[in-house]
Amino acid sequence: MFKEKYSKKITLLANMVIVVFIFFVFALLVITLAGCAGDNVAGGGEGQTVEGLHDTRHTQNGGNGVSLKEVPQSSRGNNEEGGQLKEENSYPDNLKETGNNAGEEQYKFLSKEELLKFKPNELGGVMVLMYHQIGYPESEWVRTPENFKKDLLNLYQKGYRLVSLLDYISGDINVEAGKSPVIITFDDSTQNHLNFIEKADGDGYEIDPDCAVAILEDFYNNHPDSGRGATFYIYFPNPFRQEKYIKDKFEFLVSRGYEIGNHTYSHADLSLLDDEDIVKEIALNAMEVSNSIKGYEVRSLALPYGNYPGNKSILASGEYMGYSYTNEAVLLIGSNPAPSPFSIDLDPLAVPRIRASEIKVEGQGLYDWLDYFDACPEKRYISDGDSKVITAPRELMDKINRKAVANRKVYFY
Ligand SMILES: [Zn+2]
Repeated sequence: MFKEKYSKKITLLANMVIVVFIFFVFALLVITLAGCAGDNVAGGGEGQTVEGLHDTRHTQNGGNGVSLKEVPQSSRGNNEEGGQLKEENSYPDNLKETGNNAGEEQYKFLSKEELLKFKPNELGGVMVLMYHQIGYPESEWVRTPENFKKDLLNLYQKGYRLVSLLDYISGDINVEAGKSPVIITFDDSTQNHLNFIEKADGDGYEIDPDCAVAILEDFYNNHPDSGRGATFYIYFPNPFRQEKYIKDKFEFLVSRGYEIGNHTYSHADLSLLDDEDIVKEIALNAMEVSNSIKGYEVRSLALPYGNYPGNKSILASGEYMGYSYTNEAVLLIGSNPAPSPFSIDLDPLAVPRIRASEIKVEGQGLYDWLDYFDACPEKRYISDGDSKVITAPRELMDKINRKAVANRKVYFY
């Protein structure tokens, strides 16, 4: 009798456990589906307060939630040109041979098995990470060397590979099949980005192993397939805060494939200046850099405080005292992944960035987006392994920007 009662209780308990388990699985499924269903990559999240200043314009512009209606005809109209769509409708049956005829450029097409395995999506979202200082203690705008190393390792292990900002914006994304590009940027040219420590015997200097560049170089040496590159958005008069080494540091960076970007001459809030002063701020920065490293052109701009001026066109190009500049990309603060360079959703003059921090990120930091892409891999840019071939799922066909694709091959599957 006792035994029977006991076993009934156990059965009841087991049933309850099963019901609760099923409920949780169902709830998890609903949450996952809801998380992926919205076009979070293009839609963007809330704007962030940066360096104490809040500006809603970068939220509006940074979301890149461009609807088809808003897309200029020049970029969309090309989709229908010359019967391209038909050709692009399906991945070639004869995969290995297509495009590899004598005299034609060599393309690396994936086999059907590889397509299924890698699920390439070169119209997916790309994380452009924004760092400020590397040092101690960890805070909203400071990442410790240990945490920066942790970020690099996490990105690498999750299949992200470093590409430079300019390679991303021009679509020259050389990442092996199945992997995703990620871009690292640093603002404000503090000493802990690239720190030279003078040797005790006075014979030159060594690189501080805890500065950002040393950590990046070390990671690259230990993981040669991790990709290399970062863009340093600098301002004057003393970028990297060791005046005697300004030129040496520029050369050190450029010779190793890092980029120097424009953060205006004096870290100016461009929303407070008139057009003439804005052009001057941008031109002087680019001019100083090209004076230091002959022939080097600064070609991208990160807006101090994320603040836009009223007249956006002068960010892309302008001239001051005979010196002219061109910016192929303008970076925001933002809080969401950037669209693919081949997507109509990308506005190169409003590229959103993700804060590489775990403090006050309001659910929009690096690790939140890593989780998001783990849960929703179909939203992530995944390479087909050939930068001359653009491969994406068929349902994203409407998103392709033919102008940005230029003479690359495009295939939907
Ligand atoms: Zn700044």
